[in-house]
Amino acid sequence: MTLTVIALGSNLDNPPQQLKAACCRLSRLQGLTGLRVSSVFTSPPMGPQDQPPFFNAVATCLYIEEPRQLLAELQAIEQAMGRVKVRHWGERCIDLDIIQMGEQLIHDIDLSIPHPGISERLFVVEPMIELLGADHKVPGLDDLGTLRDELKHQSISLYQDIDISGATVA
Ligand code: ADP
Ligand code: MG
Repeated sequence: MTLTVIALGSNLDNPPQQLKAACCRLSRLQGLTGLRVSSVFTSPPMGPQDQPPFFNAVATCLYIEEPRQLLAELQAIEQAMGRVKVRHWGERCIDLDIIQMGEQLIHDIDLSIPHPGISERLFVVEPMIELLGADHKVPGLDDLGTLRDELKHQSISLYQDIDISGATVA
């Protein structure tokens, strides 16, 4: 069983509902237990600026299968939810990224774990702190509290109109 962190993002087709639907699908994955879901945060787009703001959350769980199995499962959920690749860092109804799997280090062309963007993204660090605490460490990085201090300049807002923390059943 590996402590696994998954980042969820959406900026199309009712993003908060997309995050909720993705959590329901995550909760049904084989080999995945103890799913917990953070609050939802909104932030301006990272890539092209002519797209809607993003809604992001983080989920933690215990996962028993291999990292590539999880990647395949996440990509299958993205496809099933109708994700279409428009442009790099562009708009999408759902994006599911593996952030951390315990102490695993993978640096392959199609899979990087820990996810290389963590220390640049407050919308990942802040919800991780909510679930795992500021002392939590991702291999190769400072603790989350230190990462948050370094990202203070980024603007993210807590989105309070939806609670997806219970969205773990169909
Ligand atoms: P992004 O998440 O950067 O916006 P995509 O979701 O389109 O981009 O994913 C592009 C590729 O990133 C995927 O095909 C996948 O193979 C690769 N990838 C590498 N590391 C990871 C990871 N940790 N989690 C999810 N995808 C990853
Ligand atoms: Mg992705």
